[in-house]
Amino acid sequence: GPLLAIESSCDETACAILAPDGRVLAERLVSQEAHAAFGGVVPEIAARAHLALLPDLAGKTLESSGLARGDLAAVAASTGPGLIGGLIVGASFGKGLAIALGKPFIAINHIEAHALSARLPGVSDGQIGFPFLLLLVSGGHCQCLAVEGVGQYRRLGGTIDDAAGEAFDKVAKMLGLGWPGGPALERLAREGDPAAFALPRPLKGRAGCDFSFSGLKTAIARQLEPFGFAALPRQVAADLAASFQQAVADVIEDRATHALAMMERPTALVAAGGVAANTVLRERLTALAAAHGLPFVAPPLRLCTDNAVMVGWAALEICREATRLGLPVPDDRATRPRPRWPLGEMAERFAVG
Ligand code: ATP
Ligand code: MG
Ligand code: FE
Repeated sequence: GPLLAIESSCDETACAILAPDGRVLAERLVSQEAHAAFGGVVPEIAARAHLALLPDLAGKTLESSGLARGDLAAVAASTGPGLIGGLIVGASFGKGLAIALGKPFIAINHIEAHALSARLPGVSDGQIGFPFLLLLVSGGHCQCLAVEGVGQYRRLGGTIDDAAGEAFDKVAKMLGLGWPGGPALERLAREGDPAAFALPRPLKGRAGCDFSFSGLKTAIARQLEPFGFAALPRQVAADLAASFQQAVADVIEDRATHALAMMERPTALVAAGGVAANTVLRERLTALAAAHGLPFVAPPLRLCTDNAVMVGWAALEICREATRLGLPVPDDRATRPRPRWPLGEMAERFAVG
């Protein structure tokens, strides 16, 4: 039967109901707006908002699916990694409902959900097999993962300071744009010259596929110094935005090239996370994948950023893998929410004996 999925690990409160084949029967999402005034996500505000929003959102989602509670075969929720307050709200709600219905609760690793989202029906039309390279580039994450199977994830490298989205947001703030800054910066960059400023390409050409963005941020700050408190001319801001975006794209392309070389026979290049919405980056990655004879897949933006559909899909993939291995459908009601939850631990679910 269908399952209800819940996402509450950051600042999106979301519910989705998926049929066993992955079809989305209903979906609701609220991007919490209270954080914009603070220029970033405030954990305590997020937790309270999840608590206020979730029960009603779950009810409305069920209503618009045309199903009754009793039709649900399972409940899944992001149980880590993320902001602990929100995780506790979502996981507790999910567990409570599952227990009341006498159905299993499936604890989903939020990063695993991002990783498997490229395999959603309608995203890659079942074209994505294993292994594939996942480039996860969001506000909180920046890493390269070899996705070798359901539950089989190998971290190839990641950021040693800021996440890519975080860098976009911080630079956008320096240029006087709002939060989140990525989309605004991309828009402004269209009016600018990407060669106007010579910015560093941190870690480009280095062995492995780690990332670093803090030096880039500092370089932008240095370029802004001559303007002091004076208003930044629009063309200068646009040129800086374009130059920054170009530098980030150069770095990510280089790191992805290294990551592909670290894998044995990758079958696709996949990007997820809010930064994967960036058009310049998408063009680069499409060309990179093509040069390797691989498809490039990036879920549509609403599935790239945090959502409950990917959480439900991960639960379905896990159930299917368990069945394939002759294991029972998991019931994770004893799994506690965790702010950190390394992907390497996900294989334990399928460990035999
Ligand atoms: P998490 O990291 O926990 O997955 P998050 O909320 O921090 O969650 P997302 O919601 O996936 O991350 O993405 C938001 C980030 O993506 C922000 O940092 C935003 O600036 C960035 N972003 C969104 N659109 C673009 C774009 N067009 N270009 C560059 N960055 C973008
Ligand atoms: Mg978000
Ligand atoms: Fe996320």
